[in-house]
Amino acid sequence: MKILIVGAGLFGAVSANELAKTGAQIDVIEKRDHIAGNIYTKEIEGIQVHQYGAHIFHTVNKQVWDYVHQFADFNRYTNEVVANYKGELYNLPFNMNTFNKMWGVITPAQAQAKIEEQRAVLNGKQPANLEEQAISLVGTDIYTKLIKDYTAKQWGRAPKDLPSFIIRRLPVRFTFDNNYFNDPYQGIPISGYTQIIEKMLDHPNVTVSLNTDFLANKDQYVHDYDVIIYTGMIDQFFDYQFGALEYRSLRFETETLDQDNYQGNAVINYTDADTKFTRIIEHKWFEFGAGNKGKTVITHEYPQNWTRGMEPYYPVNNEQNNHLFTQYRDYAEKNAPQVVFGGRLGMYRYYNMDQVIAAALQFVQTSKLFK
Ligand code: UDP
Repeated sequence: MKILIVGAGLFGAVSANELAKTGAQIDVIEKRDHIAGNIYTKEIEGIQVHQYGAHIFHTVNKQVWDYVHQFADFNRYTNEVVANYKGELYNLPFNMNTFNKMWGVITPAQAQAKIEEQRAVLNGKQPANLEEQAISLVGTDIYTKLIKDYTAKQWGRAPKDLPSFIIRRLPVRFTFDNNYFNDPYQGIPISGYTQIIEKMLDHPNVTVSLNTDFLANKDQYVHDYDVIIYTGMIDQFFDYQFGALEYRSLRFETETLDQDNYQGNAVINYTDADTKFTRIIEHKWFEFGAGNKGKTVITHEYPQNWTRGMEPYYPVNNEQNNHLFTQYRDYAEKNAPQVVFGGRLGMYRYYNMDQVIAAALQFVQTSKLFK
């Protein structure tokens, strides 16, 4: 069986590794000039720089945690994000430190009472969008200072026009715990993410070709291979025949500075409307300050509208887009049964890394294509 994998990111590499172990022959093609998709990291001044935005590995899935440890050792990094609202600093996610700074409250009961009081603006209504969900969870003050403008910048639309699941990614806690994630397993791979993909693809049954665009020779590839695992955009694969799905893009401005410590934390969010970027990443703090003395690397992250030809980063999973995606998926199942769509773009899901790995492992184990 001849298998082609399009895209050398996490979904493609996990699939390649698992299928190669069964003895299958696999060709991986990648449009970019490097492997690892958006988890690509590159060393600058002894610092692992996350080239496509901060990636913090976290999972509740012990199997996935054990699985990635085949390919890297992980440090004990815990994401503790700081939000800067017009010079006022708050801890994220929303916890007792945040509530104390916002309202001066001291106890969980006081914080809960404050939120209850502010939630009254909803008149008992079930939250139907991100704005209502946020107010219901943390009240109007936190919504106004830490969520409203950040979300509008990030998604290019008002929070009331976004699905509520997006804000439920963030924990709300009545303890003094600044850990951004609830998952029991968390860390950053020591020496970066790229090595993980490198090791996954390093198998005698796997070939990798960079700078190779599937869509430039689609018909030929479809003719030549029995199975294609496609990790690009599903709507583009079908030439947007039912219309275009929406994505959100990002622009990164990365610079090396001649100083040891720029902001004292890996991630600082800028939650006001006037600051055009959403966050600044100082990469060395993912590895506790590793790197050359007197140097640091920072990245400003600017959200952008996505138009054809740009890099897509986030699917916009509102009802309309999800419906359109289902249309593509159903069409694919009927008309292209030998093509499997995987990863954040192929499945049009706001997946974290661990979910991508779990999906790829499940796909290889259960797909009828290989039986
Ligand atoms: N969010 C916010 N303020 C923040 C951080 C996050 O309002 O300071 C909201 C925003 O809508 C964002 C969502 O929470 O899109 C999810 O945040 P997360 O950090 O999970 O986003 P990612 O790191 O995937 O971009």
